[in-house]
Amino acid sequence: MKIGVLALQGAVAEHVKLIEKAGAEGIAVKKTEQLSEIDGIIIPGGESTTIGKLMRTYGFMEELRNLSAQGKPVFGTCAGLIVIAKDIVGQPEAHLQLMNIKVARNAFGRQRESFETDLPIKGVAEDVRAVFIRAPLIEEVGPDVDVLATYRDQIVAARQGHLLAASFHPELTDDERMHAYFLEMVRETKQEGSPC
Ligand code: GLN
Repeated sequence: MKIGVLALQGAVAEHVKLIEKAGAEGIAVKKTEQLSEIDGIIIPGGESTTIGKLMRTYGFMEELRNLSAQGKPVFGTCAGLIVIAKDIVGQPEAHLQLMNIKVARNAFGRQRESFETDLPIKGVAEDVRAVFIRAPLIEEVGPDVDVLATYRDQIVAARQGHLLAASFHPELTDDERMHAYFLEMVRETKQEGSPC
């Protein structure tokens, strides 16, 4: 199984490392041609406006929409969550608009720019270490979206079929359980797609 990490900006090497720890091959994706060889992709944290601009410049918008339309799983972490959201509070146009969620950027305020906590995440574990850095929040979810985690009653992780989103940075710890969960999603879609 090969999992891509969009490598235009942000925490790429850390994701590759945890994908490998969870038992798959991790590939830093810099060119659209590489998308045909992967089974799923992670869009990392960083700065969503910059990632969005670079995605438009290098032709990733349409290609990533195609990849998702083929049913290949997409996991957005922090800025990556913003990049896959259908709606962004206060911004007229979102980026990939894949996942039926509305997100607020930098939603924790200045005094809590970054912090860490242990979170129970549905389907993953009761104590996943979550690192929040100028993190977004999921303000609204569509009816087809499953909430996986909340922090102080606010949604910080969710899944919609083959789409997964987390406000925090699972790659900035050495806990690979969130990546293992994503790999399981990829495994499920590969099985569904196989001839028998
Ligand atoms: N605040 C950033 C943004 O809005 C996301 C921060 C992050 O990825 N750690 O794009």
